[in-house]
Amino acid sequence: MKESTTLIHALSENAETGAISTPIYQTSTFVQEAPGVNQGFDYSRSNNPTRQALEDLLAQLERGYQGFAFASGLAAVDSVIKLLSTGDEIIAVDDIYGGAYRCFTHIYEKFGIKVNYVDTTDPLQVLNAITERTRLIWLESPTNPTLKVSDIEAISLLAREKDIKVVVDNTFASPVLQKPLLLGADIVIHSATKYLGGHSDVIAGIVVCKSKSDSEKIKFIQNATGAVLGPWDSWLTIRGIQTLELRVHKQSDSAHQIAEWLEKHPAVDRVHYPGLKSHPNHATARQQQKKFGGVISFSLKDDREAPALEFVKKTRLFKLAESLGGTKSLLCIPALMTHKSTPIEVRHQCGIQDSLIRLSVGIEDPEDLIEDLEFAFQSLPKPKSLVK
Ligand SMILES: *Cc1c(COP(=O)(O)O)cnc(C)c1O
Repeated sequence: MKESTTLIHALSENAETGAISTPIYQTSTFVQEAPGVNQGFDYSRSNNPTRQALEDLLAQLERGYQGFAFASGLAAVDSVIKLLSTGDEIIAVDDIYGGAYRCFTHIYEKFGIKVNYVDTTDPLQVLNAITERTRLIWLESPTNPTLKVSDIEAISLLAREKDIKVVVDNTFASPVLQKPLLLGADIVIHSATKYLGGHSDVIAGIVVCKSKSDSEKIKFIQNATGAVLGPWDSWLTIRGIQTLELRVHKQSDSAHQIAEWLEKHPAVDRVHYPGLKSHPNHATARQQQKKFGGVISFSLKDDREAPALEFVKKTRLFKLAESLGGTKSLLCIPALMTHKSTPIEVRHQCGIQDSLIRLSVGIEDPEDLIEDLEFAFQSLPKPKSLVK
């Protein structure tokens, strides 16, 4: 069977009632026959049937041993760091999600966990950064907002030789486009707030482990620290996933079309989209992803904040908001929004220019989206280089 079919039939109807939609078990506890004698559930922090349905679905989608649902993407990130001990080191992608950076720096540094940031698009730089204390290699591919792509298979190979685990934040690609565990990674995480939920209506996080032993550790951490996803949000996420394949293919196709259009636009300086031949990691992206995703970023020829600010005020379909992956198209200025706390030198080094605009392409008609962007371009003052 093809994946689009198995995805739809992954959750079977409820055995007791025949309900075709997974019931929402809005309960904190479960009645026991005798102490410790129950039907597999005793307390909803430890396990809840609705949450378990979501966790099983993700394990299947990502081809892992077991999945875990958390109260947010960052709670998922946090649970994976808790696998480490004082003195351990992480090698992380240099333009990692800002929230993960904040968690590493402001929460875990004081517990003696060190993070080395390297350009993981070059596996050699990863190899050179490994020390005898390295326990995890933390990848995000594609990254936010410049969509850098790291070779998950090559890095997993060199990590395995040294008994280091590879974690991949698969939020941007989603399991529809990329399966990190099949490429050799050990753990996958998601902000399910983005593509998995898919409708901008839930905050949720996912961890999927490939091995039984990592699954047991994450299960222990999930129960011991308690940042679980509630039954209602688990249900919303399950509901979102029903259309994940349809949405991600449509969003990728539309984004590809918009990226090609942007690349030819006279007001645009650079377009970051892994599907473009001009993208430095295009070959790797082709190798490990089915398509290239729904996020694009681009900078203006007039590389100042002012024209970017003007641009984002003028679009009508693309709404100005943080986040991504929903049905409605969104846009933001990373330098002023998601990456505001990143020092300007670091921002520029990562290619986050002052005029960089990030688009999250929704499921609207791509021609309407292009028209919306063109309208915003028309309202900008002409860049100096074009004025005769
Ligand atoms: C949004 C995001 C997160 C954090 O997820 P939340 O659900 O907001 O806590 C982590 N990683 C990436 C790549 C993200 O885009």
